[in-house]
Amino acid sequence: MPKLSERVGTFTDSVIRRMTRISDEVGAINLSQGFPDFDPPAALTDALERVAHEGPHQYSVTFGAPNLRQALAKKQGKAIGRTIDPDKEVVVTCGSTEAMMCAMMTICNPGDRVIVFSPFYENYGADAILSGAEPIYVPLVPPEYDFDLGLIEEGFKQGAKAIIICNPSNPCGKVFTRKELEDIAELVLRYDAFAVTDEVYEHMVYAPHRHVCIASLPGMIEHTITCNSLSKTFSVTGWRLGYLMGPEEVVEGAKKVHDFLTVGAPAPLQESACAGLALPDSYYEDLLALYTEKRNYFCAGLDRIGLKHNVPQGTYFVMVDISDFLALPRFAGWTDLAFCEWMIKNIGVAAVPGSSFFREPVNHLIRLHFARSKETLDESLRRLGKLAALLEEKNNGTV
Ligand code: GLN
Repeated sequence: MPKLSERVGTFTDSVIRRMTRISDEVGAINLSQGFPDFDPPAALTDALERVAHEGPHQYSVTFGAPNLRQALAKKQGKAIGRTIDPDKEVVVTCGSTEAMMCAMMTICNPGDRVIVFSPFYENYGADAILSGAEPIYVPLVPPEYDFDLGLIEEGFKQGAKAIIICNPSNPCGKVFTRKELEDIAELVLRYDAFAVTDEVYEHMVYAPHRHVCIASLPGMIEHTITCNSLSKTFSVTGWRLGYLMGPEEVVEGAKKVHDFLTVGAPAPLQESACAGLALPDSYYEDLLALYTEKRNYFCAGLDRIGLKHNVPQGTYFVMVDISDFLALPRFAGWTDLAFCEWMIKNIGVAAVPGSSFFREPVNHLIRLHFARSKETLDESLRRLGKLAALLEEKNNGTV
């Protein structure tokens, strides 16, 4: 058999999505890959029903259906306090996943450096490899997940062309403060670089934290490429609708990359999604209230069980510290991946091993998500409660 490219040998499949497959095989509750188990708003499903009969069923404009681009430009324009040109500054993509890949392929030459925070959403690693970019990792240090600005400057001094910012951050739930973003922006401008920002959890930012779009900071509109998606905001992860916004020249390039990668996002779904973007502001307020309640409920449940965890400022992810378990003789020498596989089979709950997000050798964290119905969260907590028994055995010195 002829040899495959060296490229495909340099990264693995997504551990997040692998966990989903293992979880499905054994019928565990899947708290690994983050997606809701509840329905999208009726506005979208009603529109989808109508579109099924009325169309469109053929390609839409490659860069995105004009009405969807207009609606997205209006929404983002409101968020950043500036008019966005739907024809020149927006590309609709197949999920934010494609938006991020388009951004990287558009701005990076092979060998170009890109600053990536660690932990990072695992796609960024593969995006860097596929676009030929070399990541320079800057740690977000638990438990606060703060960072050393000096290391970012060091990265820019080494020639980094861009910094990737996931805000709010998957997996650690960090919401960057205005001050942090201003500091980063100052460096981006000083070193004439780009901020590539992934804002798919923008509507899941828990009080008192606030989401600030780095694109809204002075001078940053010409230096920011915003990647976002409808997946989380409208509970339609399977629709694969995302978008990229940025300066005209960048979008011009990204349009070409997108054109040849996918031709376009699904036309019927783009049309149906417009109904979501027409919803009033109360929709986003209700969504936040729903997730705030789920976050509090799930975190309180983890507390009752005695599992150590962070309280996310944003997103629907929680990092749980499994050090106490790995200290038990039965798990001696185990990796977090092995622990997650054991948990799927023996506890019936799937999580993502933290090591798939960290550049550093971190082995004691696992990521769970709470985008689940109350009943499912209750059952998950009941099952996770079985873990508590293990800790008790340890405390009693019986293990
Ligand atoms: N962003 C979600 C997660 O991290 C879903 C990832 C995906 O599979 N696209 O779990």
